[in-house]
Amino acid sequence: MTHRTIDEILPAIAAKALGGGPVSRDDLLAVLARSDDDLLDVVAAAGRVRRKFFGRRVKLNYLVNLKSGLCPEDCGYCSQRLGSTAEILTYAWIEAEEAARHARCAVDAGAKRICLVAAGRGPADRDIERVAETVAAIKDSTPAVEVCVCLGLLKQGQADRLREAGADAYNHNLNTSAGNYSRICSTHTFDDRTATVAAAKTAGLSPCSGAIFGMGESNEDIVDIALALRELDPDSIPVNFLIPFEGTPLGGHWELSPQRCLRILAMFRFAFPDVEVRVAGGREIRLRTLQPLALHLANSLFLGDYLTSQGQPGRDDRAMIADAGFVIEGLDEPTLPVDRHDLVITRHRGTGTTVPANT
Ligand code: SF4
Repeated sequence: MTHRTIDEILPAIAAKALGGGPVSRDDLLAVLARSDDDLLDVVAAAGRVRRKFFGRRVKLNYLVNLKSGLCPEDCGYCSQRLGSTAEILTYAWIEAEEAARHARCAVDAGAKRICLVAAGRGPADRDIERVAETVAAIKDSTPAVEVCVCLGLLKQGQADRLREAGADAYNHNLNTSAGNYSRICSTHTFDDRTATVAAAKTAGLSPCSGAIFGMGESNEDIVDIALALRELDPDSIPVNFLIPFEGTPLGGHWELSPQRCLRILAMFRFAFPDVEVRVAGGREIRLRTLQPLALHLANSLFLGDYLTSQGQPGRDDRAMIADAGFVIEGLDEPTLPVDRHDLVITRHRGTGTTVPANT
């Protein structure tokens, strides 16, 4: 086998991604294996792909934690897990009006998507009705905003009900590879997670699913996650970097460097050329002063605070975006390239549903 140089590998990978992909497993591994000396070459090559499909637009997303802490599940990375002693806010479901008020402020600050999240294994049907009310309150006050819901594992019919209530998307992250899953969680399985993402997609919700890095995974694990996500064909992919809360099993895990985070983001851009790649939790503490480089790879980020930890001030995010020569995506601008989706839309209104017909 001939040994390819960096000058040959990256343009070939970028050309494949610019044509829409798919980029092979070996090529994705080659991106992760680059040295820090090659970092700017990697960012430049993946940046071309980002600009082709998303220009210089940055989508801002805003998290509303509807119910915080005291989860019965044991995901090792999570500050809300069973047995966590992390000093986080814990509270029961907030009112729909309170969520709508936070959403309104976030939209005024530039957010295009509101992500409604509640800790737990999965919702009861009464929780779905509560969230349906919240979705309606947000849509009443800001009709153009996208609403994504994240409530854990869904039971039959629950995704349809959220779609009927006006939710646009459902988030459920795979978090780590199938081979690694039992190392980070014992109370549910990788297959449970993929089934919920598939159910959301079948119900007509835009699938959002991503991962967390910094939990001791190898390059092979990272590519395994990316390829598992590719099977699910998500519209948006949050790329999280572990926030190592003291009081959780992964507290003190600080091994990720900013350079490795950027290579992971570049690998996701090559693997998903025309999909929303979001630099998500851990952005500030992991990328630190290299955050602006992530804008050349990801086309989306979270504005403001995370579920249980604080992000940098929103004004600093907006200033960083402007200083780096990017622009905030408007409410009326489509995020994904128009040719990413089929023109055939499965009917979820009228006869056989409780949603009014299209008359
Ligand atoms: S990630 Fe979700 S399911 Fe897992 S412990 Fe945290 S809140 Fe519970």
